[in-house]
Amino acid sequence: MPKAQETLLEIDLKALTHNVAFIKSKLKNDTKFLAVVKAFAYGSDAVEIAKHLEHLGVDYFAVAYIDEGIALREAGISTPILVLHPQPFNFKTLIEHCLEPSLYSQRVLNAFITVAEELKQKNYPIHIKFNTGLNRLGFAEAEIETILSLLKNSAAIKVKSLFSHLAASEVIEEKAFTLKQINTFTNIARTITKALGYQPLLHQSNTSGLLNFPEAHFDMVRSGIGLYGFGNEREFDNYLKPIATLKTVISQIHTLKAGDTLGYNRAFKANTLTKTATLPIGHADGISRQLGNGKGFVFIQGKKAPILGNVCMDMIMVDITTIDCQEGDEVIVFGREHTAEQLSDSINSISYEIITAVSQRVKRVFV
Ligand code: PLP
Repeated sequence: MPKAQETLLEIDLKALTHNVAFIKSKLKNDTKFLAVVKAFAYGSDAVEIAKHLEHLGVDYFAVAYIDEGIALREAGISTPILVLHPQPFNFKTLIEHCLEPSLYSQRVLNAFITVAEELKQKNYPIHIKFNTGLNRLGFAEAEIETILSLLKNSAAIKVKSLFSHLAASEVIEEKAFTLKQINTFTNIARTITKALGYQPLLHQSNTSGLLNFPEAHFDMVRSGIGLYGFGNEREFDNYLKPIATLKTVISQIHTLKAGDTLGYNRAFKANTLTKTATLPIGHADGISRQLGNGKGFVFIQGKKAPILGNVCMDMIMVDITTIDCQEGDEVIVFGREHTAEQLSDSINSISYEIITAVSQRVKRVFV
């Protein structure tokens, strides 16, 4: 790959293939694989990633919002797409694009049935979401009877899956809580399946859930962060490969004398002679302002260069006093060796936030 001459997010599709194979190696042969490609496939580019994953033969995609699903359909993706958090006002559009809704409350289920009936649908696939402890979205166990009567009264819909989401599958100290969630979901699924008289798909695991709790694999797993190369634990991080490398370049080098200040609000003041590099990447590209003032860093010639002063909209300035480099040299913000996870640690964040923050103005290149 030639050296970057501008800010670029380089996506390694071979690493994606590797991560899928690693995750599949943890599953039984008949366990289905749902790839979570919401938020532009965690910042990497939903369409290109979904095309590659469709080619690899994943069984399902999930996005958060209807518009994300439409973008995939318009790009020719034909694999089933679960929309995790659709809004009822747009259900007609969802059906027109053959997207499958997660229905998580009586309000939303009723609204969907009304639209599906108006559009004269028959057995339209829906996914019923249960809250088993995350307390974010989902029906309560106590609502089972009401759900069943709504489902049985409409021929317009058919339950394709029952699912739930784990709250803390990456937290070892919360193992008992996760096992309780798995148990609650198992009981809900048993009751509903018996009443329906057919077997919908069951799924509960995210990446950490599938890696840490084989008992939660059920019929399908939903993996997001694992596809993009993070396992939330060092053990799995050794096997997974981060697929995205955020690169930029040195635009200009300055030398500050003791007493000189740098950037907006003069937030950095040099105590001694300090060499700085200005880079064409800022908070509008996804570099959080939290990373400024010495918290975050980039890598130049393999060496750590702390971000000095405030992060600007289109630029950051970094300390290169001890680094032998020149204008035009390549800079790594995060990637395979210097990971988004390490960068996230410096501001008490998570890899998810760092990788999804890379804004749409940053060009994506696929290797
Ligand atoms: N399932 C649901 C409902 C989610 O909201 C998410 C992500 O937030 C996932 C699965 C994927 O989780 P992970 O990226 O940790 O694999």
